[in-house]
Amino acid sequence: MHHFAYRDGEMAAEDVPLAQVAEAVGTPFYCYSTATLERHYRVFSAPFEGLDALICFAVKANSNVAVIRTLARLGAGADVVSGGELDRALVAGIPPERIVFSGIGKTAGEMAAGIRASIHQFNVESEPELRLLNDIALGLKTTAPVTLRVNPDVDSGSHAKITTGRSDNKFGIPWSRAREAYREAGRLPGIEVVGVDVHIGSQLTDLEPFEAAFHRVVELIEALRADGHAIDRLDLGGGLGIPYEPGTPPPHPDDYGAMVRRIAGESGCSLILEPGRLIAGNAGILVSRVLYVKEGESRSFVILDAAMNDLLRPAMYEAYHGIQPVREPGPDASTMVADFVGPVCESADTFARDRETAALVPGDLVVIHSAGAYGAVMASTYNSRPLVPEVLVKGDRFSVIRPRIGTDDLIDLDRMPDWLENEGESRAAE
Ligand SMILES: *Cc1c(COP(=O)(O)O)cnc(C)c1O
Repeated sequence: MHHFAYRDGEMAAEDVPLAQVAEAVGTPFYCYSTATLERHYRVFSAPFEGLDALICFAVKANSNVAVIRTLARLGAGADVVSGGELDRALVAGIPPERIVFSGIGKTAGEMAAGIRASIHQFNVESEPELRLLNDIALGLKTTAPVTLRVNPDVDSGSHAKITTGRSDNKFGIPWSRAREAYREAGRLPGIEVVGVDVHIGSQLTDLEPFEAAFHRVVELIEALRADGHAIDRLDLGGGLGIPYEPGTPPPHPDDYGAMVRRIAGESGCSLILEPGRLIAGNAGILVSRVLYVKEGESRSFVILDAAMNDLLRPAMYEAYHGIQPVREPGPDASTMVADFVGPVCESADTFARDRETAALVPGDLVVIHSAGAYGAVMASTYNSRPLVPEVLVKGDRFSVIRPRIGTDDLIDLDRMPDWLENEGESRAAE
């Protein structure tokens, strides 16, 4: 459920007509709905009520500080995967004791920043990382709270680029070495072992891989306790899928929550969950304007002013995104079948193929749905395009939460080396 719908013939975000935002901000732009973010957070957290559970929003899905603060106000924690995300979470007002630090390549500086901020825990993904974290903690005369992320060798069934829990993925400590790694962690004076962590992938549309992985982890906890470790926290990662296209919807958060309660509830651990996409995905859209409608030899192309640099998911993951005109088509509006493409010089710059749509003409606004997660965070300025702005709506208000960063600003960041500074002189010397 989200709050982007037609009202009086025009698509609105909550109570704000999108055409009005387009007028004020220009296109393309991202637009997020506060009510939807809040609703998704509540739907996800409801099944865990009464349990000792910390919901840590995976900041990599959407790292705008206004979005993070919206969730912080509801009590969310944060799962961060870089020093930059740690800074954003802190600036947004997430209390450090609700921040967990994941990722396979933490640097010494990032570890020190996390320790200085007194975050809740580090999710450590290898023995070498464990040893470095030990050194950094000792150097700061403290200990670092640690879970080890284990790789349960379970196939999540999602797209290969977002599957993380198989033994041939780069993530986590191999299952066969888990107890040994814990033994080493237990011996390191700068490391305080607090729990176990697992995250098997993203956009899972089936509960079974979660169940298989969580069962394995609960068994591991027994073994680790028998080995003498104090395992009090169970971090189950994120990964629950969202509906992108018509058809069978992914499991409801209630069913996911019931499954987690059943399997993990008896572990005697406090729980940590790291949803990203589920919270932000359908709480955001990308709004774009039609530049041209071009008739190709065998197909029609709707050329938008948004491109793969603004929303990478279709090019990167072959992702489906719903597309609708901002002006509601009348009951007998004519339709067309077209490819929706952007202006970037890559064939991969395609948002949709053979998509049936109400007939569009240049100047029309369109909404690309389900773009709130892994959208703006992955945007770039490829083809020297401005960095896409972000807007947050709340009721009948909207606010630009990141302005468009124009090409002038970007050119200003480039520097001329001294040997290129005076073109006329160097020509003369040749
Ligand atoms: C990406 C990621 C998440 C969030 O995944 P979603 O599919 O967006 O829920 C959670 N935890 C870790 C460690 C991640 O890398």
